[in-house]
Amino acid sequence: MTVIRSIQHIQRSRPTIEGAGVHLKRAFGSADVPQFDPFLMLDDFHSDRPADYMAGFPWHPHRGIETVTYMISGEVEHGDSLGNKGVIRSGEVQWMTAGRGIIHQEMPHRQKGTLWGLQLWVNLPASHKMMGPRYRDIRATDIPECRLGSGGIVKVVAGSFNGCRGPLGDLIGDPEYLDVSIPGGAEFAHAITKGHTVFAYILEGEGRFAPGQEKAIPAESLVLYGDGDKVSIKAEKAGLRFLLISGRPLGEPVTWRGPIVMNTEEELAVAFSEYRNGTFIKV
Ligand code: FE
Repeated sequence: MTVIRSIQHIQRSRPTIEGAGVHLKRAFGSADVPQFDPFLMLDDFHSDRPADYMAGFPWHPHRGIETVTYMISGEVEHGDSLGNKGVIRSGEVQWMTAGRGIIHQEMPHRQKGTLWGLQLWVNLPASHKMMGPRYRDIRATDIPECRLGSGGIVKVVAGSFNGCRGPLGDLIGDPEYLDVSIPGGAEFAHAITKGHTVFAYILEGEGRFAPGQEKAIPAESLVLYGDGDKVSIKAEKAGLRFLLISGRPLGEPVTWRGPIVMNTEEELAVAFSEYRNGTFIKV
């Protein structure tokens, strides 16, 4: 029997200040561990005021995690201690695996209109925390767009939907990352492996995220699902755009300080002492 997943929890994203003074909204973060396992954090930076974002995220280290940056509009320039450099543009994704360590900066460009991006942190399993760092830059044209009968569109950043496969073949764990747009009144259903964590983050419009749900859920809300086989979602009149993200939980201890997430306090102490004494980056 197919079990439609019910809603376990709904929360609104909350204003916070990160980096060198970027005003953003946090959908979930360290206070929510381990509910979203293997995911650690989702930040939504969305503003038409350069003063909210121009300070950016100057040089900082990461170890033990992946960061997935998805730009909906506007540009962020990226550079790291290994000499990698580039710009993440509208519609593009950077899937960055920090592994044993990178030191990088992420600096938004001044926009005429809105800067809108999302950054997801994906935890690495103990077996991969010290892997070699890598970047994968995904151009907008490399993200498959799967058309729905309702007129909706599903952009497959990772995982697969109705035969459309995301561009990255060798992701760690089994993450799925969909950007779903459906018109007013349309329904959307998608099977998700039983036991995997799944959440939706609403970008635009309103929708009902489980059958029989009484109230429509608005933009900037996060819906965490209970277990089951599939999700069933319906757009309100104005249509709906949301991210649907799922992954296999790690079930490992999480020891987290700032931009570094390990399994034990000892590993965290080693990481910070290496950062202080200049041996953080391993060639
Ligand atoms: Fe970073």
